[in-house]
Amino acid sequence: MLRIVSVIALDLRSGVEQLGDLIAEASTIVPFTGAGISTECGIPDFRSPGGLWTRHRPIPFDEFVASSEARDESWRRRFAMQPTFAAARPGRGHRALASLYKAGKIPAIVTQNIDNLHQMSGFAADHVVELHGNTTYARCIGCGQAYDLHWVRQRFELDGAAPTASPAPTR
Ligand SMILES: [Zn+2]
Repeated sequence: MLRIVSVIALDLRSGVEQLGDLIAEASTIVPFTGAGISTECGIPDFRSPGGLWTRHRPIPFDEFVASSEARDESWRRRFAMQPTFAAARPGRGHRALASLYKAGKIPAIVTQNIDNLHQMSGFAADHVVELHGNTTYARCIGCGQAYDLHWVRQRFELDGAAPTASPAPTR
């Protein structure tokens, strides 16, 4: 039987207990995670007051594709965030889910996060459904090839613009 469960508890203790019971009873769990699981890892919540998107207007994908200025701005923002993403490590929530994954209770996970922390905690990349992509590497929107961000940054800093044609992929 498929149940979609969202726990809204009156207090933290009863919420944790409810969730523990649900996990114990279920044979299979497919978690859906968002920004909250990664904030304790130093990843900012983009939508919250003071978050990146309240200070910078998000750049929609069609604008990114159509405008080289939008692409350059998007890359400048991405590189400014690089130390934050590079320093982030899985937190307690990631580790708890990874242990259920290793125990065979979680076949795959769905996430809105782009920080790669589920993979870093032990999930195989094929078992992480990333609704908004992954910001720890770049992917060619023409052919789908993945590239190392360090390479993109070097090209950006040398040429003053993001690469549009590519040499050999690094990933
Ligand atoms: Zn390509």
